[in-house]
Amino acid sequence: MQNKGEEFKLRFDVFEGIFDQVRNTPLAIISIAGPFRKGKSFMLNLLLHYLMEGQSSDVYKDKKAKIRNIFNWRGGVERTTVGIEITNKPIMVKDKSGKRVAVFFMDTQGMFDHKTTGKGCSAIFAMSTLLSSMQIYNLSGHIQEDHLQYLEIFTNYARYAVEQKQHANASTCPFQGLMFLLRNWEMADYDFGQKGGVEYLATVMEEHLQENVSVRQNMSNSFSDIGCTLMPHPGNNVARRKTAINNNIELSDIDEEFLDEVNKLAKYLFNQESLIVKKLDGITITGEGLIELAIEYAKILSSGEVPKVVSMLQANLKAQFIQFIRQLETEYEEFMDQQVML
Ligand code: GDP
Ligand code: MG
Repeated sequence: MQNKGEEFKLRFDVFEGIFDQVRNTPLAIISIAGPFRKGKSFMLNLLLHYLMEGQSSDVYKDKKAKIRNIFNWRGGVERTTVGIEITNKPIMVKDKSGKRVAVFFMDTQGMFDHKTTGKGCSAIFAMSTLLSSMQIYNLSGHIQEDHLQYLEIFTNYARYAVEQKQHANASTCPFQGLMFLLRNWEMADYDFGQKGGVEYLATVMEEHLQENVSVRQNMSNSFSDIGCTLMPHPGNNVARRKTAINNNIELSDIDEEFLDEVNKLAKYLFNQESLIVKKLDGITITGEGLIELAIEYAKILSSGEVPKVVSMLQANLKAQFIQFIRQLETEYEEFMDQQVML
Protein backbone atom coordinates (compact mmCIF):
# COMPACT_ATOMS: atom_id res chain seq x y z
CA MET A 1 0.00 0.00 0.00
CA GLN A 2 1.14 3.50 -0.71
CA ASN A 3 1.32 5.99 2.04
CA LYS A 4 -1.12 8.60 0.83
CA GLY A 5 -2.29 10.69 3.71
CA GLU A 6 -4.90 8.90 5.73
CA GLU A 7 -5.79 6.21 3.25
CA PHE A 8 -5.73 2.66 4.50
CA LYS A 9 -5.64 0.17 1.67
CA LEU A 10 -4.99 -3.52 1.71
CA ARG A 11 -2.69 -4.93 -0.94
CA PHE A 12 -5.03 -7.77 -1.89
CA ASP A 13 -2.57 -9.47 -4.23
CA VAL A 14 0.11 -9.70 -1.56
CA PHE A 15 -2.32 -10.74 1.14
CA GLU A 16 -3.97 -13.34 -1.03
CA GLY A 17 -0.60 -14.68 -2.18
CA ILE A 18 0.39 -15.29 1.44
CA PHE A 19 -2.82 -16.91 2.70
CA ASP A 20 -3.61 -18.81 -0.45
CA GLN A 21 -0.83 -21.24 0.55
CA VAL A 22 -2.95 -22.29 3.54
CA ARG A 23 -6.49 -22.02 2.19
CA ASN A 24 -7.80 -24.93 4.23
CA THR A 25 -5.49 -24.79 7.23
CA PRO A 26 -6.37 -23.24 10.60
CA LEU A 27 -4.20 -20.28 11.56
CA ALA A 28 -2.42 -18.77 14.54
CA ILE A 29 -1.52 -15.16 13.88
CA ILE A 30 0.76 -13.46 16.38
CA SER A 31 0.71 -9.69 16.08
CA ILE A 32 2.74 -7.15 18.01
CA ALA A 33 1.83 -3.50 18.47
CA GLY A 34 2.90 -0.56 20.61
CA PRO A 35 5.15 2.49 20.59
CA PHE A 36 8.13 2.48 18.25
CA ARG A 37 11.70 1.51 19.16
CA LYS A 38 10.64 -0.65 22.05
CA GLY A 39 11.99 -3.91 20.64
CA LYS A 40 8.89 -5.23 18.84
CA SER A 41 10.66 -6.42 15.69
CA PHE A 42 13.56 -7.77 17.74
CA MET A 43 11.15 -9.90 19.80
CA LEU A 44 9.42 -11.26 16.70
CA ASN A 45 12.80 -12.27 15.26
CA LEU A 46 13.58 -14.15 18.48
CA LEU A 47 10.20 -15.91 18.47
CA LEU A 48 10.73 -16.84 14.82
CA HIS A 49 14.10 -18.31 15.79
CA TYR A 50 12.28 -20.65 18.19
CA LEU A 51 9.97 -21.97 15.50
CA MET A 52 12.58 -22.15 12.75
CA GLU A 53 15.11 -23.99 14.89
CA GLY A 54 12.81 -26.82 15.85
CA GLN A 55 10.83 -25.58 18.88
CA SER A 56 12.96 -27.24 21.54
CA SER A 57 14.16 -25.83 24.87
CA ASP A 58 17.69 -25.75 23.45
CA VAL A 59 17.11 -23.32 20.63
CA TYR A 60 18.55 -20.41 22.60
CA LYS A 61 21.55 -22.39 23.93
CA ASP A 62 23.81 -22.34 20.86
CA LYS A 63 25.52 -19.04 21.63
CA LYS A 64 27.12 -18.73 18.21
CA ALA A 65 23.73 -18.86 16.49
CA LYS A 66 22.82 -15.66 14.69
CA ILE A 67 19.34 -14.22 14.95
CA ARG A 68 17.88 -13.68 11.49
CA ASN A 69 16.83 -10.10 11.16
CA ILE A 70 13.68 -10.98 9.28
CA PHE A 71 11.56 -8.09 10.46
CA ASN A 72 13.98 -5.22 10.26
CA TRP A 73 15.25 -6.28 6.88
CA ARG A 74 11.98 -7.20 5.24
CA GLY A 75 13.53 -10.41 3.90
CA GLY A 76 10.82 -13.01 4.35
CA VAL A 77 8.08 -10.53 5.16
CA GLU A 78 5.64 -8.65 2.99
CA ARG A 79 4.09 -5.29 3.59
CA THR A 80 0.34 -5.74 3.25
CA THR A 81 -0.85 -2.28 4.24
CA VAL A 82 0.88 0.82 5.46
CA GLY A 83 2.37 -0.09 8.79
CA ILE A 84 1.66 -3.84 8.70
CA GLU A 85 4.08 -6.56 7.65
CA ILE A 86 3.40 -10.29 7.68
CA THR A 87 5.76 -13.24 7.32
CA ASN A 88 5.26 -14.60 3.81
CA LYS A 89 5.65 -18.31 4.61
CA PRO A 90 3.67 -20.28 7.16
CA ILE A 91 5.44 -22.21 9.90
CA MET A 92 3.55 -25.35 10.84
CA VAL A 93 2.82 -26.36 14.44
CA LYS A 94 0.22 -28.70 15.96
CA ASP A 95 -2.82 -27.93 18.07
CA LYS A 96 -4.19 -29.95 21.01
CA SER A 97 -5.75 -32.57 18.79
CA GLY A 98 -2.62 -32.93 16.66
CA LYS A 99 -4.07 -30.95 13.74
CA ARG A 100 -1.71 -28.78 11.69
CA VAL A 101 -1.90 -25.03 12.29
CA ALA A 102 -0.13 -22.41 10.17
CA VAL A 103 1.64 -19.73 12.21
CA PHE A 104 2.23 -16.23 10.87
CA PHE A 105 3.79 -13.20 12.54
CA MET A 106 2.53 -9.69 12.04
CA ASP A 107 4.56 -6.58 12.86
CA THR A 108 3.09 -3.09 13.08
CA GLN A 109 4.86 0.22 12.70
CA GLY A 110 4.08 3.85 12.75
CA MET A 111 1.76 3.80 15.71
CA PHE A 112 2.22 6.57 18.22
CA ASP A 113 4.82 8.29 16.06
CA HIS A 114 4.26 11.84 14.94
CA LYS A 115 3.93 11.07 11.27
CA THR A 116 0.94 8.76 11.50
CA THR A 117 -2.44 10.39 11.84
CA GLY A 118 -5.02 9.41 14.44
CA LYS A 119 -7.00 7.51 11.82
CA GLY A 120 -3.97 5.76 10.35
CA CYS A 121 -2.82 4.74 13.77
CA SER A 122 -6.23 3.38 14.79
CA ALA A 123 -6.57 1.55 11.48
CA ILE A 124 -3.19 -0.18 11.87
CA PHE A 125 -3.98 -1.35 15.40
CA ALA A 126 -7.57 -2.25 14.51
CA MET A 127 -6.50 -4.34 11.53
CA SER A 128 -3.86 -6.18 13.54
CA THR A 129 -6.42 -6.90 16.28
CA LEU A 130 -9.01 -8.04 13.73
CA LEU A 131 -6.68 -10.44 11.95
CA SER A 132 -4.64 -11.85 14.83
CA SER A 133 -5.39 -14.62 17.27
CA MET A 134 -2.87 -13.12 19.71
CA GLN A 135 -2.30 -9.41 19.99
CA ILE A 136 0.87 -8.60 21.89
CA TYR A 137 0.83 -5.08 23.34
CA ASN A 138 4.50 -4.26 23.75
CA LEU A 139 5.37 -1.55 26.29
CA SER A 140 8.49 -0.50 28.13
CA GLY A 141 8.19 -0.48 31.94
CA HIS A 142 4.84 -0.59 33.69
CA ILE A 143 1.30 -0.12 32.34
CA GLN A 144 0.17 3.48 32.44
CA GLU A 145 -3.39 4.71 32.31
CA ASP A 146 -2.90 6.27 28.87
CA HIS A 147 -1.66 2.92 27.47
CA LEU A 148 -5.01 1.46 28.49
CA GLN A 149 -6.91 4.40 27.04
CA TYR A 150 -5.17 3.99 23.67
CA LEU A 151 -5.93 0.29 23.78
CA GLU A 152 -9.60 1.07 24.38
CA ILE A 153 -9.76 3.51 21.49
CA PHE A 154 -8.06 1.15 19.05
CA THR A 155 -10.03 -1.87 20.21
CA ASN A 156 -13.28 0.06 19.83
CA TYR A 157 -12.31 0.81 16.28
CA ALA A 158 -11.74 -2.89 15.65
CA ARG A 159 -15.08 -3.72 17.29
CA TYR A 160 -16.74 -1.15 15.08
CA ALA A 161 -15.44 -3.02 12.01
CA VAL A 162 -16.69 -6.36 13.38
CA GLU A 163 -20.09 -4.87 14.15
CA GLN A 164 -20.37 -3.33 10.71
CA LYS A 165 -20.05 -6.81 9.30
CA GLN A 166 -22.62 -8.14 11.79
CA HIS A 167 -20.11 -10.60 13.07
CA ALA A 168 -20.71 -9.26 16.51
CA ASN A 169 -22.42 -11.47 18.96
CA ALA A 170 -23.20 -9.48 22.06
CA SER A 171 -22.56 -12.40 24.39
CA THR A 172 -19.06 -13.27 23.19
CA CYS A 173 -15.76 -11.42 23.04
CA PRO A 174 -14.94 -10.63 19.42
CA PHE A 175 -11.18 -11.07 19.95
CA GLN A 176 -9.02 -13.75 21.52
CA GLY A 177 -5.54 -13.32 22.99
CA LEU A 178 -4.22 -10.06 24.41
CA MET A 179 -0.77 -10.20 25.98
CA PHE A 180 0.82 -7.22 27.66
CA LEU A 181 4.56 -7.64 27.12
CA LEU A 182 6.35 -5.34 29.53
CA ARG A 183 9.99 -4.82 28.53
CA ASN A 184 12.86 -3.71 30.76
CA TRP A 185 10.91 -4.72 33.86
CA GLU A 186 12.57 -3.49 37.05
CA MET A 187 10.13 -3.80 39.95
CA ALA A 188 11.45 -6.63 42.11
CA ASP A 189 8.01 -7.15 43.77
CA TYR A 190 6.95 -9.22 40.77
CA ASP A 191 8.88 -12.08 39.20
CA PHE A 192 9.70 -12.10 35.51
CA GLY A 193 7.48 -14.07 33.19
CA GLN A 194 3.78 -14.75 33.19
CA LYS A 195 3.25 -15.51 36.85
CA GLY A 196 4.58 -12.14 37.97
CA GLY A 197 2.86 -10.55 34.98
CA VAL A 198 -0.56 -11.87 35.88
CA GLU A 199 -0.12 -10.78 39.51
CA TYR A 200 0.92 -7.32 38.39
CA LEU A 201 -1.92 -7.10 35.87
CA ALA A 202 -4.41 -7.97 38.61
CA THR A 203 -3.31 -4.88 40.56
CA VAL A 204 -3.69 -2.75 37.42
CA MET A 205 -7.17 -4.14 36.78
CA GLU A 206 -8.30 -3.46 40.35
CA GLU A 207 -8.44 0.28 39.77
CA HIS A 208 -11.77 1.54 41.09
CA LEU A 209 -11.77 5.12 39.95
CA GLN A 210 -14.97 5.62 37.99
CA GLU A 211 -13.32 7.02 34.87
CA ASN A 212 -10.91 4.09 34.68
CA VAL A 213 -13.46 1.35 35.17
CA SER A 214 -14.91 1.45 31.67
CA VAL A 215 -11.48 1.07 30.08
CA ARG A 216 -10.97 -2.17 31.99
CA GLN A 217 -14.46 -3.49 31.36
CA ASN A 218 -14.07 -2.81 27.68
CA MET A 219 -10.82 -4.78 27.61
CA SER A 220 -12.39 -7.77 29.36
CA ASN A 221 -15.40 -7.66 27.03
CA SER A 222 -13.22 -7.52 23.92
CA PHE A 223 -10.55 -10.19 24.54
CA SER A 224 -11.31 -13.66 25.85
CA ASP A 225 -7.77 -14.42 27.01
CA ILE A 226 -5.81 -11.60 28.69
CA GLY A 227 -2.28 -12.14 29.97
CA CYS A 228 0.85 -10.24 30.91
CA THR A 229 4.54 -11.14 30.72
CA LEU A 230 7.34 -9.26 32.47
CA MET A 231 10.61 -9.23 30.52
CA PRO A 232 14.03 -8.44 31.96
CA HIS A 233 16.42 -6.04 30.25
CA PRO A 234 18.20 -7.82 27.36
CA GLY A 235 21.62 -6.36 28.27
CA ASN A 236 23.60 -3.47 26.87
CA ASN A 237 24.85 -5.37 23.84
CA VAL A 238 21.27 -5.31 22.62
CA ALA A 239 20.07 -1.99 23.99
CA ARG A 240 23.00 0.05 22.66
CA ARG A 241 23.07 -1.55 19.24
CA LYS A 242 21.98 0.44 16.28
CA THR A 243 19.10 -1.21 14.41
CA ALA A 244 21.19 -1.45 11.22
CA ILE A 245 23.71 -3.78 12.83
CA ASN A 246 21.08 -5.93 14.50
CA ASN A 247 21.64 -8.22 11.57
CA ASN A 248 24.80 -9.51 13.19
CA ILE A 249 23.31 -10.17 16.56
CA GLU A 250 24.28 -13.50 18.11
CA LEU A 251 22.65 -15.22 21.04
CA SER A 252 25.82 -14.58 23.06
CA ASP A 253 25.07 -10.84 22.80
CA ILE A 254 21.83 -11.30 24.71
CA ASP A 255 21.51 -11.75 28.49
CA GLU A 256 20.78 -15.32 29.57
CA GLU A 257 17.91 -14.23 31.83
CA PHE A 258 16.22 -12.47 28.91
CA LEU A 259 16.59 -15.52 26.65
CA ASP A 260 15.10 -17.76 29.35
CA GLU A 261 12.00 -15.59 29.43
CA VAL A 262 11.76 -15.47 25.63
CA ASN A 263 11.96 -19.26 25.65
CA LYS A 264 9.08 -19.50 28.14
CA LEU A 265 7.00 -17.04 26.14
CA ALA A 266 7.64 -18.96 22.90
CA LYS A 267 6.62 -22.21 24.58
CA TYR A 268 3.43 -20.65 25.84
CA LEU A 269 2.55 -19.17 22.45
CA PHE A 270 3.24 -22.33 20.43
CA ASN A 271 2.69 -25.17 22.84
CA GLN A 272 -0.07 -27.57 21.72
CA GLU A 273 -1.92 -26.96 24.99
CA SER A 274 -1.90 -23.16 24.98
CA LEU A 275 -1.77 -22.33 21.25
CA ILE A 276 -4.64 -20.02 20.29
CA VAL A 277 -6.11 -20.79 16.87
CA LYS A 278 -7.81 -17.92 15.06
CA LYS A 279 -11.59 -18.00 15.49
CA LEU A 280 -14.48 -15.68 14.93
CA ASP A 281 -17.71 -16.26 16.82
CA GLY A 282 -16.35 -19.63 17.83
CA ILE A 283 -15.66 -20.76 14.26
CA THR A 284 -12.12 -21.63 13.20
CA ILE A 285 -10.84 -19.43 10.39
CA THR A 286 -8.65 -20.91 7.64
CA GLY A 287 -6.49 -19.05 5.09
CA GLU A 288 -9.45 -18.73 2.75
CA GLY A 289 -11.67 -17.24 5.45
CA LEU A 290 -8.97 -14.81 6.51
CA ILE A 291 -8.62 -13.47 2.96
CA GLU A 292 -12.36 -12.74 2.88
CA LEU A 293 -12.32 -11.14 6.31
CA ALA A 294 -9.32 -8.97 5.50
CA ILE A 295 -11.00 -7.67 2.36
CA GLU A 296 -14.20 -6.83 4.25
CA TYR A 297 -12.40 -5.16 7.14
CA ALA A 298 -10.06 -3.18 4.91
CA LYS A 299 -13.12 -1.76 3.12
CA ILE A 300 -14.66 -0.65 6.38
CA LEU A 301 -11.46 0.82 7.78
CA SER A 302 -10.69 2.72 4.59
CA SER A 303 -14.25 4.02 4.12
CA GLY A 304 -14.79 7.71 4.61
CA GLU A 305 -16.68 7.16 7.81
CA VAL A 306 -14.54 7.86 10.81
CA PRO A 307 -16.00 6.64 14.06
CA LYS A 308 -16.10 8.99 16.99
CA VAL A 309 -13.21 7.21 18.65
CA VAL A 310 -10.78 8.89 16.29
CA SER A 311 -11.69 12.35 17.38
CA MET A 312 -11.37 11.06 20.93
CA LEU A 313 -7.84 9.97 20.10
CA GLN A 314 -6.98 13.36 18.72
CA ALA A 315 -8.46 15.05 21.76
CA ASN A 316 -6.39 12.77 23.92
CA LEU A 317 -3.18 13.52 22.08
CA LYS A 318 -3.88 17.21 22.35
CA ALA A 319 -4.47 16.92 26.08
CA GLN A 320 -1.22 15.01 26.47
CA PHE A 321 0.67 17.56 24.47
CA ILE A 322 -0.64 20.40 26.62
CA GLN A 323 0.33 18.44 29.71
CA PHE A 324 3.81 17.88 28.29
CA ILE A 325 4.27 21.60 27.63
CA ARG A 326 3.08 22.40 31.18
CA GLN A 327 5.58 19.92 32.55
CA LEU A 328 8.39 21.55 30.57
CA GLU A 329 7.33 24.93 31.87
CA THR A 330 7.39 23.68 35.45
CA GLU A 331 10.78 22.07 34.98
CA TYR A 332 12.10 25.27 33.48
CA GLU A 333 10.76 27.33 36.38
CA GLU A 334 12.26 24.93 38.90
CA PHE A 335 15.57 25.05 37.09
CA MET A 336 15.53 28.83 37.08
CA ASP A 337 14.65 28.92 40.78
CA GLN A 338 17.65 26.71 41.52
CA GLN A 339 19.88 28.95 39.48
CA VAL A 340 18.71 31.95 41.43
CA MET A 341 19.28 30.20 44.74
CA LEU A 342 22.88 29.32 43.89
P1 GDP B 1 10.52 -1.55 17.31
O1 GDP B 1 10.52 -0.19 16.68
O2 GDP B 1 9.59 -1.57 18.50
O3 GDP B 1 10.26 -2.65 16.34
O4 GDP B 1 11.99 -1.78 17.95
P2 GDP B 1 13.23 -2.64 17.38
O5 GDP B 1 12.96 -4.10 17.49
O6 GDP B 1 13.64 -2.13 16.05
O7 GDP B 1 14.32 -2.28 18.48
C1 GDP B 1 14.75 -0.96 18.70
C2 GDP B 1 16.07 -0.97 19.46
O8 GDP B 1 15.90 -1.44 20.79
C3 GDP B 1 17.11 -1.87 18.82
O9 GDP B 1 18.36 -1.24 18.83
C4 GDP B 1 17.14 -3.11 19.71
O10 GDP B 1 18.41 -3.73 19.74
C5 GDP B 1 16.78 -2.54 21.09
N1 GDP B 1 16.00 -3.47 21.93
C6 GDP B 1 15.33 -4.57 21.54
N2 GDP B 1 14.70 -5.16 22.59
C7 GDP B 1 14.97 -4.40 23.68
C8 GDP B 1 14.60 -4.49 25.07
O11 GDP B 1 13.88 -5.39 25.52
N3 GDP B 1 15.10 -3.51 25.88
C9 GDP B 1 15.91 -2.50 25.43
N4 GDP B 1 16.34 -1.60 26.33
N5 GDP B 1 16.28 -2.39 24.13
C10 GDP B 1 15.81 -3.32 23.26
MG1 MG C 1 9.94 -2.50 14.27
